[in-house]
Amino acid sequence: MNKKIWLSSPHMGGTEQNYINKAFEENWIAPLGPNVNGFENDLKEYTGATACTALTSGTAAIHLGLIQLGVGKEDEVLCSTFTFVATVNPIIYQGAIPVFVDSEEETWNMCPEQLEIAIKDRIEKKGKKPKAIIVVHLYGMPSKMDEIMEISRKYDIPVLEDAAEALGSTLNRKAMGTIGDIGIFSFNGNKIITTSGGGAIVSNNEEYCQDSLFLATQARDAAPHYQHSRIGYNYRMSNITAGIGRGQMEILDKHISLRRRNHDFYKKELSNYKNIQFLEELEGGFSNRWLSCILTDSFDTREKIRLALQENNIESRPLWKPMHLQPIFINYDKYLNGVSENLFEKGLCLPSGSNLEIADLELITKTIKNTLKY
Ligand SMILES: *Cc1c(COP(=O)(O)O)cnc(C)c1O
Repeated sequence: MNKKIWLSSPHMGGTEQNYINKAFEENWIAPLGPNVNGFENDLKEYTGATACTALTSGTAAIHLGLIQLGVGKEDEVLCSTFTFVATVNPIIYQGAIPVFVDSEEETWNMCPEQLEIAIKDRIEKKGKKPKAIIVVHLYGMPSKMDEIMEISRKYDIPVLEDAAEALGSTLNRKAMGTIGDIGIFSFNGNKIITTSGGGAIVSNNEEYCQDSLFLATQARDAAPHYQHSRIGYNYRMSNITAGIGRGQMEILDKHISLRRRNHDFYKKELSNYKNIQFLEELEGGFSNRWLSCILTDSFDTREKIRLALQENNIESRPLWKPMHLQPIFINYDKYLNGVSENLFEKGLCLPSGSNLEIADLELITKTIKNTLKY
């Protein structure tokens, strides 16, 4: 049996340990220090964002981002239904109410038409505008931000970009995460770069990031003693994990090209099969191809492929189960067009790590081709 092929596993570049060693030598074993500042500067430089605050997770970044946008009790937040649960949970932490918006077929991300339908309907039904929009760039694919930002401006509702999966992706040369009012990234173990666990909030509004830093470090007022006028959190990134992040930033572009190579390989080998479709970039869009995904013609084809891969010790996974189908969110309002349910039924994520070898990719495509014969 071949060695296990993972969906997306950590891939160190080699210099990460140097940054950690330096932190030990200088005794910066704390949730602050030169690596944290250095990592934030790297992220600002790479994305072009004016400000950045490094945090313990992408989930924490979404939470603080919602606080910056003034989301509180009973406020409604429009949110992509086709996403990972961490996009939605912080809405609940704030006592606010998620309203789910379906995807469009081109990018699989939030559908601008459904978004506008939802806004109009909420205003009519509730007499109150939704407080924020959370757009997710799933699998690294840039969303239709031109259309979404136009709607955001038309109704004056701010946008938080969940770019947890989209570090390095761009639309018309702008980094995902820097187009809306606030953007967030994740550095969890399976993401395009990892700090073992971590996240960041970025913005061109420096105040958002400064206030997030204040809240992330327990909201300490300026006083020699401990004094607090607001509720804070313990969300600041550690100087050790930030060291991993600095090393990872050095090889981010290289790893993106390797992920894109994976996608191109799958497409070259499989796009002749009429029951397999690939996700294409928008004009002007550049995806980091965090995960390579296929859309098959039926649940049965999808399962046949998934089980054949599993038998060969190859990990694959159905696309995200939409939030409006999750037991915990089943009773929330939603604006649907069938796209995300279709993707969930027929879609599959293939192994996509930057550390895959050509022989792995060959074994994966050979296994898939064998199932398509029947
Ligand atoms: C991973 C992820 C998050 C959460 O990030 P963590 O760092 O794991 O908290 C949020 N949204 C999406 C779309 C993600 O993939």
